[in-house]
Amino acid sequence: MNQPQIILLGPPGAGKGTQSTRLAEEYDVDHVTTGDALRANRDVETDHGTPREYMEAGELVPDPVVNEIVVEALADADGFVLDGYPRNLDQAEFLADIVDLDTVASLSVPEDELVRRLTGRRICPDCDATYHVEFAPPAEAGSCDDCGAELTQRDDDTEDTVRERLRVYEENTAPVVDHYRETGKLTEVDGDGTPDEVFTALRETVEA
Ligand SMILES: [Zn+2]
Repeated sequence: MNQPQIILLGPPGAGKGTQSTRLAEEYDVDHVTTGDALRANRDVETDHGTPREYMEAGELVPDPVVNEIVVEALADADGFVLDGYPRNLDQAEFLADIVDLDTVASLSVPEDELVRRLTGRRICPDCDATYHVEFAPPAEAGSCDDCGAELTQRDDDTEDTVRERLRVYEENTAPVVDHYRETGKLTEVDGDGTPDEVFTALRETVEA
């Protein structure tokens, strides 16, 4: 097959980053994230200024700028996994005009499982080591393996914040998912399994 052009959708905690990286390795294609593309092209002049102007002001980079940067990032790619884009319907419609997608996969994971994954994260304030109370616990509960400091939870990872992040994601992305469902492009992949199980399901989707 030609180098595949893949979009991977999924809420925070669904394992999108991990699976995108594995897919990019498997098919020898570029792993394109909006964040990386913006950083790599921060000084590209668009009709609405450069990404750097927005990033340095701490503002959300507006859609027209993001779109131009994504075009730039995809122009040289021989196949890609696009991760974190499109994030809304306008972006999805824009993308439809510039690429012919082979696969749009959406990772589904029950909300309570996402909450369990996201609220279990702990970090070491001293050395930045990361843990998970269930999936990657330290040898001694609450203490960093590397330096012994007391582990903490980021504000972003508390249950209320996590549920709010999931709600915002759902609100923005539901129209994107519907769009791909209506155009017959969407495959929903069960993301509630081990990373290997999910990857196997994704590979079957890409090769179907
Ligand atoms: Zn530490």
